[in-house]
Amino acid sequence: MSKLLFWIVIILVALVVARLLAQKAARGAPPTPSSRHQHPPGTRPGAKGNGNGTGTELMVRCAHCGIQLPTDEAVRRKGYNYCGLAHSLRGPKS
Ligand SMILES: [Zn+2]
Repeated sequence: MSKLLFWIVIILVALVVARLLAQKAARGAPPTPSSRHQHPPGTRPGAKGNGNGTGTELMVRCAHCGIQLPTDEAVRRKGYNYCGLAHSLRGPKS
């Protein structure tokens, strides 16, 4: 009886070790073509500094005061970019 128990324990330990090794191999393995499209959690395609895009934001110049600011923060009016609503109302500096 004790011998049977011994073998059951051995088999259980072997199963646990095999599972751990399989998990380790799956984690350390290079991405296969089928799993390449799945992004691991925490990494976003197109995130800053990910090397996917240009890496730097496109900058524009305020037509009134000349300050540089990211395109998505700029106020666009009559074909000009401005740093804010106030400067967009004042118009481009002549
Ligand atoms: Zn401005």
